[in-house]
Amino acid sequence: MGDVNRTKRYVVGNWKMNTQLADAIVLGEGIKYGVESLSGVEVVLCPPFVWLYPLAEMFSQGPTNLSLGAQNMHWEEKGTYTGEISPLMLKDLVKYVILGHSERRYHFNETDEMINDKVISALDHNITPILCIGEWKKSESGDVEGLTKQLKAGLAGLEEAQLKKIIIAYEPVWAISKGDTSGQRAASGEYAGEVVGKIRSYMEKEYGRAVSENIPILYGGSATADNIKEYMFETEIDGVLAGGASLKIDNFLQVCKAVGEYR
Ligand code: PEP
Repeated sequence: MGDVNRTKRYVVGNWKMNTQLADAIVLGEGIKYGVESLSGVEVVLCPPFVWLYPLAEMFSQGPTNLSLGAQNMHWEEKGTYTGEISPLMLKDLVKYVILGHSERRYHFNETDEMINDKVISALDHNITPILCIGEWKKSESGDVEGLTKQLKAGLAGLEEAQLKKIIIAYEPVWAISKGDTSGQRAASGEYAGEVVGKIRSYMEKEYGRAVSENIPILYGGSATADNIKEYMFETEIDGVLAGGASLKIDNFLQVCKAVGEYR
């Protein structure tokens, strides 16, 4: 399992249900050669399940700052769950798994309890969970009560050692997929930084300082090469989860470069 801490910055690229095999190969090659020269940033590509194996082969000789993640996972190891993908299938292919993405919560009725089962199962199989939380409606400074409810339920039953192996992605749902390259509907850096600070304070209150100081908290929601610096100037934000921007080699590499450089 990857070593998770705040000395690294993270860029997670969520390809969602996009790309065909040829696109995945082109994107994978372009990103592989682009991130090689970057320092201080861990880049995680989360393609559709079916492209994990060819990309794992492609990245088998490095670069060491490039890893694969899954976009979802079932919590059981095997069984009568038609269409699902288990941690046993993933554990040799990925280091990370996105769990609790708002699109999974919304389109597939994933509950906090299911997400908690997945988080526990990922940790049991040495896969680092990237736990997504986010409010549905824009408010003055984030729906902290709603966010902490998602966190509390998603992290239920975990011990301190496990909490140190998790990444949180704060993704205000109203800001997701609004970007294109203008990034105009993304949350402002100031807003995102303030809410991430509140999430970290909650983590300290609930789980103690050793956990809150160590846990990487990323921002996600229409982050692009154009607005990335706004987020990285916020000291509480440790990186970004990017959807649309991760499907364009140049844009994504600019995001990765900025995350490594600015802080
Ligand atoms: C996401 O998929 O979590 C996401 C942040 O997407 P986008 O960057 O396109 O808003």
